[in-house]
Amino acid sequence: MSALCPECSAPLDADPRFVAWCASCDWNLLPPPAPPQRLILPRLQERLVRGLHESGIDRFSLARLASYALALLVHLLTLGFLVTGIWLLFVFTFASVCVGVVLVGLSWLMRPRFGRLPGDAEVLTRQDAPRLYQLLDEIGARAGAPRTDVVVLTGDMNAGYGTYGLRRRRMLTLGYPMWLVFTPQERIALLGHELAHSSNGDNRQGIVVGTAFRALAELRSAARSDREAVPEHGLLVLVGNWVSQVVLWLLRVAVGGFDTVLQLVNLRSSQRAEYRADAMSVEIAGTVAAASSLDAHDTRCGVASSFLETRTMAIPRDESLWEAMQAYMASIPESEFERRRRGARLVSLRVDATHPPSYLRHEYVLGLPYREPAVTAAGMGEIDRELEVRSGRVERELRDDIRATLYQ
Ligand SMILES: [Zn+2]
Ligand SMILES: [Zn+2]
Repeated sequence: MSALCPECSAPLDADPRFVAWCASCDWNLLPPPAPPQRLILPRLQERLVRGLHESGIDRFSLARLASYALALLVHLLTLGFLVTGIWLLFVFTFASVCVGVVLVGLSWLMRPRFGRLPGDAEVLTRQDAPRLYQLLDEIGARAGAPRTDVVVLTGDMNAGYGTYGLRRRRMLTLGYPMWLVFTPQERIALLGHELAHSSNGDNRQGIVVGTAFRALAELRSAARSDREAVPEHGLLVLVGNWVSQVVLWLLRVAVGGFDTVLQLVNLRSSQRAEYRADAMSVEIAGTVAAASSLDAHDTRCGVASSFLETRTMAIPRDESLWEAMQAYMASIPESEFERRRRGARLVSLRVDATHPPSYLRHEYVLGLPYREPAVTAAGMGEIDRELEVRSGRVERELRDDIRATLYQ
């Protein structure tokens, strides 16, 4: 006996493993509790995201200039802390030395940092994965991207492009589960998007704005932690716990406010960068694969993420988590993908601060002139073997991470 929709009485074809929902009237598309929404100044942000989607792309904008100005202000503040702090140290009264130490400590926390490669990163060099790098070079040449120096394989459901170190070495981060749920041609689209980030003037990658974001994040986490980490804490304890609480609270509010403004100003240019990267992805992988890779964010990636989060512990260590995940993916009814696809459009215009909602990007890609693939997925089998060699270690790390979050 099949259940009926309580709203419109259409039959529900429910797979008991998934949410029952109605394809005719969208009943129970997103069962409560609704997914958490991280909105900063929601209305304004919504207008920005919408406006951006509708107005198309240009390379230069006022927001871009403004975010540089704000970022410079952050770095000036750091310099100000340092200079004032040192000066106070030389005034040499008890109070001035205390405040001086705090200010010098803050400027040290906020110093421009260029990031580094995490020590436990699963790094694939050119020697480890020649075919993968060959593909990256081919895509990079079309995207106008500089040579990729390093590929890091992770257990995350995402991919990213960034730089590390003073020499700004180029690093591609590749989530192995995402790689597995994408078709070969969608992977080309994904790589095209990521490599485009290195050449399309993305602010967040830049030295000035990127380091400012990092400085604010440091300052914020220092203001949040109440014991170790804060170098000035020992001294503040002397003045009294309540003073430190007030100071930290003020600091938190100030940093939080400034960070929000910088994010908001930067939102426009970073979202433009995303659309530009999507346009590049179309040029390289073709319209069909670029569009379906974006659809996969809302559908297959979501299903696979839930699988990894909830089922990993139940799969014995001597069985391959990746094979289990792929077998599970093959068993998913189309109706569950469709539910997630429609659900993604319901969740207002949620912005994860880096990417516009996938469905807007999907619409944008379909609105561009149609393209055939310029790069095809020939040789993907060999790349798969190069990655598979390392997939065991990625699996162990993922299992350990999930275990750690469960027993926290
Ligand atoms: Zn219904
Ligand atoms: Zn992107």
